[in-house]
Amino acid sequence: MSQYDFDLFIIGGGSGGVRAARVAGQHEAKVAIAEEYRFGGTCVIRGCVPKKLLVYASRFRDDFQDSAGFGWTVDGARFDWPTLIANKDREIARLEGLYRRTVGNAKATVFDTRATVAGPHTVALADGSNVTARVILVATGGHPVKPDIPGAEHAITSNEAFHLKELPASILIVGGGYIAVEFAGIFHGLGARTTLVYRGEKVLRGFDDDLRTGLMEEMAKRGIEVRTKADIAAIAGHAGAYRVTLKDGTTTEAACVMFATGRTPNTRGLGLENAGVKLGPMGQVLVDAESRSSVPSIYAVGDVTDRVNLTPVAIREGHAFADTVFGNTPWTVDHDLIPTAVFSTPEIGTVGLPEHIACLRYPRLDIYRARFRPLKHTLSGRDERVLQKLLVDGDTDKVVGCHMLGPDASEIAQMAAIALRMGATKADFDATVALHPSIAEEFVTMREKVPAPHPPPPKVPVPEKKGYDETA
Ligand SMILES: Cc1cc2nc3c(=O)[nH]c(=O)nc-3n(C[C@H](O)[C@H](O)[C@H](O)COP(=O)(O)OP(=O)(O)OC[C@H]3O[C@@H](n4cnc5c(N)ncnc54)[C@H](O)[C@@H]3O)c2cc1C
Repeated sequence: MSQYDFDLFIIGGGSGGVRAARVAGQHEAKVAIAEEYRFGGTCVIRGCVPKKLLVYASRFRDDFQDSAGFGWTVDGARFDWPTLIANKDREIARLEGLYRRTVGNAKATVFDTRATVAGPHTVALADGSNVTARVILVATGGHPVKPDIPGAEHAITSNEAFHLKELPASILIVGGGYIAVEFAGIFHGLGARTTLVYRGEKVLRGFDDDLRTGLMEEMAKRGIEVRTKADIAAIAGHAGAYRVTLKDGTTTEAACVMFATGRTPNTRGLGLENAGVKLGPMGQVLVDAESRSSVPSIYAVGDVTDRVNLTPVAIREGHAFADTVFGNTPWTVDHDLIPTAVFSTPEIGTVGLPEHIACLRYPRLDIYRARFRPLKHTLSGRDERVLQKLLVDGDTDKVVGCHMLGPDASEIAQMAAIALRMGATKADFDATVALHPSIAEEFVTMREKVPAPHPPPPKVPVPEKKGYDETA
């Protein structure tokens, strides 16, 4: 008989926690899992999945407009926000049920409640009871933060954006990361007058500079007002009619204000420090390569560790943890060459290093770049250009970065990631027969190098992108 109630207690039923529960269960561990809100976590309930559904909805406007050049007449196209939200909610409820079923299949004991850490082997539940476990896994994710300005309480975050009663006539989004540009595309596409206010020079800090410039140009062409080097100072007014004051003293009106200004790990009040778990400056749980914290019986995976804040990463970390600790098959997650997409419109897909980091790491960096109008827009008439870029280590011919702004960039980056992971060289790309006519074929037909350096390397190293941390 074990001296503990459970082999494993997981706090958090999101991407990382549920995967860890399933795999630990398969390894015959006696598992318990606590979820204080809804199973599925951020990704399923108020992140990737509902976001992508809204992105799909927002892009029909382009399809209707583009169809005219192909001979179509679309009469009376109208959008109904409540229908979209109700359908989205139904799908999210279905997925939540699947997640719950997954933990049930793992024979995990489910606690639908908040849980905190009371000691190296003890978890406290909201009803005051304690449960013990040989190992505790913290998989509590993160939450959005708002800047501390007068009137901040009037603004929504991505959490509330999914549940607005109606589509606002106009929206001002503050921030310059993934979530800010994705929601700018969503609200604009659905018909809201959209303004993006960002304090930096260009959106998407950490991404390849050509992508950042290219996306800002395309957003502006679509009619999204992008105000960079601008920051919000105060919000006044009431729902549907806010007056926003910027730090330069100018004011603007918006029916809705949304902050996409950062996310922070869910560690406050979790009892971790009392148990001896070391936290980093952002409140993130500090862990080693095996996701073990400074307390040997307490592990952490996913956004709460603030490594790379993406769902597939949280899932892998949860899987590796369970195999390592309960399956006697130790492995660690490689955080290099993680493909990522930004579901802006047009979207970004990228894998490998951006130019500003690649040029520091590879002194002989070859750059290939193409900017062109895709075939579809010769008839649609849309003024939108695709950007594709390959970065190659001139010494080894290895492709070290692959970047794209344009339709289906996310799908293309996923496949390019396999090639980069296998160590593909530029010669391998060149030897691959093009698939014609496609946009992706440009990646195997790029022959002309861009004269280096382009642009000159920065003097101060710029941080790499870290997923949906949204640091603005
Ligand atoms: C708007 C938005 C869009 C995103 N889009 C994408 C995307 O397109 N692609 C992508 O890869 N990633 C995306 N992400 C990021 C992705 O959602 C996260 O990286 C991922 O969900 C992290 O998983 P996790 O298991 O670490 O945490 P989460 O999924 O956040 O799960 C943590 C769970 O713990 C629960 N919890 C917290 N504290 C406690 C407690 N004390 N007791 C009990 N339960 C607790 C929470 O309720 C939550 O359910 C997006 C995020 C946001 C916000």
